[in-house]
Amino acid sequence: MKPYKMALPKTVKSAVSVLGSDFEKTQILAGGTDLLAGMKEHILEPELVVNLKSVRGISEIVMTKEAVEIGALVKLDDLGGHKDLQKRWPALAQSVVQTATPQIRNVGTLGGNLCQRPRCWYFRDETYHCSKKGGGTCYAFDGENQYHAIFENGVCQIVHPSNLAGPLIAYDAQVEIHGANGSRLVRLEKFFVTPEQNIARENILQPNEVLTKVIIPFTSANKKSAYLETREKQSFDWALCGASLNLRMDGKVIKEARVVLNAVAPRPIRRYDLEGMLVGKKAGSSLFKKVSAEAVKSATPLAKNGYKLDLLRVVLERGLKQASEA
Ligand SMILES: Cc1cc2nc3c(=O)[nH]c(=O)nc-3n(C[C@H](O)[C@H](O)[C@H](O)COP(=O)(O)OP(=O)(O)OC[C@H]3O[C@@H](n4cnc5c(N)ncnc54)[C@H](O)[C@@H]3O)c2cc1C
Repeated sequence: MKPYKMALPKTVKSAVSVLGSDFEKTQILAGGTDLLAGMKEHILEPELVVNLKSVRGISEIVMTKEAVEIGALVKLDDLGGHKDLQKRWPALAQSVVQTATPQIRNVGTLGGNLCQRPRCWYFRDETYHCSKKGGGTCYAFDGENQYHAIFENGVCQIVHPSNLAGPLIAYDAQVEIHGANGSRLVRLEKFFVTPEQNIARENILQPNEVLTKVIIPFTSANKKSAYLETREKQSFDWALCGASLNLRMDGKVIKEARVVLNAVAPRPIRRYDLEGMLVGKKAGSSLFKKVSAEAVKSATPLAKNGYKLDLLRVVLERGLKQASEA
């Protein structure tokens, strides 16, 4: 690993002030489970690492009248084990317990999970100068693409790796971002970018910005929700595909729906078309089968990942059933 300096700011403001204007030179460190791997792999070689560990006020879970505010430095394990969150936003807790391993959940943070870099093996291999690293080629397009995108296949075939992003979007969460000009709130759905919007990055954060908290409104609580994913291994693995569902029901009739898919595209994708198919209909297996079949019709799989279509259909169908019966 290339030697680097470390800053230990005590406040968000001082963290922002040392971040600078170049991702190549400065990186934020939270739990380090992803960042340090990238540094050891020579994907990232910052001169300065800004460690958030000592920053005050971003490690708490606070219930207000309208929402829950979760600090970016809250550990995944504390998030998944929080009884109130489990009760009101079960899909979030379900997504956390399926993330990585107990050891990683003990160290990894909410902010780090949302901002983690993609797992594409060409991106993670320093010898491939792929399009994401400023080269002109996406090696996954004609290469080993079994874990890559089946939607939004454009200049880069990565899939977004965060489990938590899906349920949080389904719960209408917002993120608070601090930068040189103060703070702003952004809907999580708008936080992620496509490779066409910015090939080098996966979200809207600027080099001198810190994600400080995630806010989930109470209006999204206590609805019928579920998170389901499929992966190759029981643990220590990322999703092959996942679905986050949040339904407001009146008896058997679906009044409102959120459908978000993960691990199938370069960003978590909210499927408004599927939500439209669900609203106003009676929940049941024939509807869920129809919606799941529709979900994969617009897919554009690569040579080696067509199997993901079947997985996604099943995950979505089961997820809808689980949510509607929750
Ligand atoms: C074996 C293994 C399996 C895994 N499986 C899964 C899985 O199934 N699902 C899943 O979702 N994840 C999975 N992960 C990823 C894991 O969840 C992340 O590594 C972890 O959440 C990152 O959190 P961290 O605090 O350690 O982030 P760090 O490593 O400290 O940071 C990660 C990235 O986010 C940036 N960052 C961190 N915090 C902030 C902030 N507040 N503001 C702005 N930028 C920030 C950093 O600069 C860095 O680029 C797995 C990881 C491993 C090693």
